[in-house]
Amino acid sequence: MRILDNCGVVTNDSSRLIHNEGAAIAIDRDRIVAIGTAEEIRDQYPNAERIDMTGKIAFPGFVNSHTHTVLTVLRGLAEDQGPHSLYGQMYPMKTVIEDQHRHALGMLGSVDTLRSGTTTMVENYEGSTAVAPAAEKLGIRAVISEVANDAVMVNIRRGRYEFSEEQGQEQLDAVEAHIKNWHGAANGRITTQASAHAPDTCSRDLLRKVIDIAEKHDVGLHIHLAQTPREVQQVQQREGMGSVEFLHSVGFLGPQLIAAHCVYINPREIQLLGKSGTTVAHNALMNGRRGKVAPTMHLEAAGANIALGSDNMHEDMVAVARTALVVNRIREADGSIPSSHDVLDWLTMGGARSLGMEDDIGSLEVGKKADITLVDFRQPHLQPLIDPVVNFVHNAHARDVHTVLVDGEVVVRDGKTVNVDEDEVIDNANEMARDFWRKFQAQYGGTVMPER
Ligand SMILES: [Zn+2]
Repeated sequence: MRILDNCGVVTNDSSRLIHNEGAAIAIDRDRIVAIGTAEEIRDQYPNAERIDMTGKIAFPGFVNSHTHTVLTVLRGLAEDQGPHSLYGQMYPMKTVIEDQHRHALGMLGSVDTLRSGTTTMVENYEGSTAVAPAAEKLGIRAVISEVANDAVMVNIRRGRYEFSEEQGQEQLDAVEAHIKNWHGAANGRITTQASAHAPDTCSRDLLRKVIDIAEKHDVGLHIHLAQTPREVQQVQQREGMGSVEFLHSVGFLGPQLIAAHCVYINPREIQLLGKSGTTVAHNALMNGRRGKVAPTMHLEAAGANIALGSDNMHEDMVAVARTALVVNRIREADGSIPSSHDVLDWLTMGGARSLGMEDDIGSLEVGKKADITLVDFRQPHLQPLIDPVVNFVHNAHARDVHTVLVDGEVVVRDGKTVNVDEDEVIDNANEMARDFWRKFQAQYGGTVMPER
């Protein structure tokens, strides 16, 4: 038994109950057993270990619903290249990257997102199974998937879409093997999904097979959807319909699916995503970086579940939350929507719902998992304290995350991860990134820029 003593609590429960200070949370093993005033909780559990959290406010642990921690390898190189980084680097790099690179960069990205208060990350990339041991060691909750596609990715940079059934089958086998190896690992802290890459890089037949795998193993689905104009044009040309309509015709949409991006969609497609109850992982910072923002408020109004994702090269979910507020207000030309509370809900309950884990995570309530992010509010930029949710979304930084618990275990203390040596993680990631880019340049020439 342990008590997070004398803190504030943003429960994000159905009544949106908030204690600004003087509260406490009692935890038994991996679950929350009581939330109340510090005095009540101390009286109720006199023998519990007490962790003093004066000045800190507890939030439900954040959910990063769409990330590729491995792609931190592109950091500092690809951010200013627009969609060219996608076709010029991300697709061709799949023939170069090795498990040692994936593990090292995956660990770096996982440490980064955990330190920003993320307690659950949804990681998908070809070869992501190499990230699972990193997540296991770090102590973060992780939903990891291998990704299947049957388009030959290296040719897409030259504008050629060619499909290989053999390659598709290999990747489907990897998706299924990963599920068998990792689903439910680390006492259930690590789970899996079945991911397809995107509508333009996956044939109808392959998408159906991904659904079959998901149904067979009772796991969720994941895909990139309506991410770029090129994707939408390609699907239009091949299937005679938009990307969302194509997925609808395959039977891919629904509450079991996390669809990342959903930027290039029309009003009919907004309705399809809404009516099917699909989760849209809103990658707000990536939207901003690429210069076009998804119709998030319209998707939510139509019935879609909104969650937040960092996508790639950055993993800071505090920054993603604030960016989601800012870019959607600009898109709607309205200074009041979304509210800070809307954004916190996307960051927590939206993420929980995206995984069908709303009974376990997403809010701080008795009986739920003790996945808790404590933010240090005793700082000039977070005072005075009236509504901590507004202060958090508008003014907080990842460095304000003080303590993080996952399954009741402290995994970040004083802003540093507990289970790994961060200096070692940084050195290893740099060494592996240098090795990767040497090999990339040897294969694709002296430039990493896309061919035109
Ligand atoms: Zn992505």
